[in-house]
Amino acid sequence: MSKIVDLILSPKQASDAKFYTPIVARELRVKESDIALLRIIKRSVDARRGALKVNISFEAYIDNEELPAPLHFDYPVVVGKPEVIVIGAGPAGLFAALRLIELGYRPIIFERGKEVVERGKDIAKIQRNQGVNPDSNYAFGEGGAGTFSDGKLFTRSKKRGDYNRALQRLVYHGASPEILYEAHPHIGSDRLPRIIADMRNAIREAGGEVHFERRVEELIIRNGNVEGVVAGGDRIEARAVLVATGHSARDVYYMLNESKVRLEAKPYAMGVRIEHPQQLINEIQYHRSPEMEYLPAASYSLVAQVGGRGVYSFCMCPGGFIVPAMTDAGESVVNGMSPSHRNSPYANSGFVTEIRESDFAHLTEKYGALAGLVFQQQLEQAARKEAPENQTAPAQRVADFVAGCCSTSLPKSSYVPGVVPSRLDEWMPQFMSMRLREAISIFDKRMRGYKSNEALVVGVESRTSTPVRIPRDRDTLQHPEVAGLYPVGEGAGFAGGIISAAIDGERVAEMIASVGLN
Ligand SMILES: Cc1cc2nc3c(=O)[nH]c(=O)nc-3n(C[C@H](O)[C@H](O)[C@H](O)COP(=O)(O)OP(=O)(O)OC[C@H]3O[C@@H](n4cnc5c(N)ncnc54)[C@H](O)[C@@H]3O)c2cc1C
Repeated sequence: MSKIVDLILSPKQASDAKFYTPIVARELRVKESDIALLRIIKRSVDARRGALKVNISFEAYIDNEELPAPLHFDYPVVVGKPEVIVIGAGPAGLFAALRLIELGYRPIIFERGKEVVERGKDIAKIQRNQGVNPDSNYAFGEGGAGTFSDGKLFTRSKKRGDYNRALQRLVYHGASPEILYEAHPHIGSDRLPRIIADMRNAIREAGGEVHFERRVEELIIRNGNVEGVVAGGDRIEARAVLVATGHSARDVYYMLNESKVRLEAKPYAMGVRIEHPQQLINEIQYHRSPEMEYLPAASYSLVAQVGGRGVYSFCMCPGGFIVPAMTDAGESVVNGMSPSHRNSPYANSGFVTEIRESDFAHLTEKYGALAGLVFQQQLEQAARKEAPENQTAPAQRVADFVAGCCSTSLPKSSYVPGVVPSRLDEWMPQFMSMRLREAISIFDKRMRGYKSNEALVVGVESRTSTPVRIPRDRDTLQHPEVAGLYPVGEGAGFAGGIISAAIDGERVAEMIASVGLN
């Protein structure tokens, strides 16, 4: 049996096996050469006060002990099995499809975007200010919105079993086993595409179908039952359809609305991306310790209540880049990502405040359940007006944003298409800018130097969660009024992040298998 050893080490001791293996051997009273396998099962940095420490749990296998078996997922051939249509090849759609295969169903995926390598080329064009393909960009295409991202794999889901299985599936398809033990696991934008491609190959090898550049234009619904979809002009029939289209597919919400499928407006959050030099964040978080060099790029997570609402950092990307995440060239939308080594000189984070239904009540009469979506789009279009050239984005120095003055020059930024000076504090709705400004001052007290003039706010961080929910019955996971229609993942309002979307996809697949296709 393996042995667990919990230690508190210095950053240097924890940084390399050559430092920590002798310490573990001493602790176990064995020779270093007797340790057949040593793996870290949990690691977190404690930078709260005093000297920096790393809390670390090791699992050690001593010679002659049985080593852990590699994980295996079995995907049986499903040719000829009952078919299920999956719209969208994001984490929700892909994990649903793989789980359906395990349970003996044949998934047929329709994805509006391109396969991941071709998609990468369209993303490069956006970065070079060469236009935005509305079906192939940071939000749309194989792997969904998280493919060219930090690949952070946290979830608030309490079900450890589901969480571990999702991580293990990622490892089976090529992710580093480190994600199984890191306290804050992430994959990195350079590694995610290979994993996604491996999942697609597994689906096809098992006899499932994956169709790229096939946007679903219509749902076929008769007498309250879904009967299939129309994609690329073709009619494809199935008794179960998963809508896993993510929160950026505005046309899907409009299509459902026109088909009289009930939707609901919901609160969400919007704000800016905030970017600091990574060195500054390291110095603040690691207290300028001489051992800083042995630690990973520092991150932070901040939350405050301002004027009765939450303001918080969101999707923080240490050593990362701000990316142009719009699906339409007429909008300025930013998000963040990091490569696996988190080694860019910048630290960026979403910095957002709650948007409540009362904020877009003036749009409800005209747009009904889509009012929040229209409000979101209006902010993105306002941001584009401030930076009209290609995919440039409006930006302001953080201290100027708080002081309410214009930035005549801007510091360097990781945002490749370019930033343009703009008074974000003036054109953003006042209830938002007021809260964001106040929160920055509050956070500056917790992280001295956060309100730096070397830092930037960039507009706008608007796609945090869906402004529209596609309701589903708690027991059947189907739309309450359309049998066979399964809203899944982030776009339906049942997930917020890669892993929770993946878990939701698996959950819906299991529901289909448990009730069968009537
Ligand atoms: C730049 C960026 C960085 C991010 N970083 C992280 C991170 O580090 N960690 C994290 O947990 N989350 C991150 N996210 C959020 C995460 O990507 C999403 O929460 C997650 O991808 C949602 O999964 P989903 O499957 O529900 O939807 P999506 O991933 O949005 O997938 C939906 C898919 O449906 C397709 N589609 C849409 N409409 C149609 C149609 N009509 N027909 C056919 N196909 C259609 C889309 O092309 C897309 O591929 C990031 C997002 C972005 C944009």
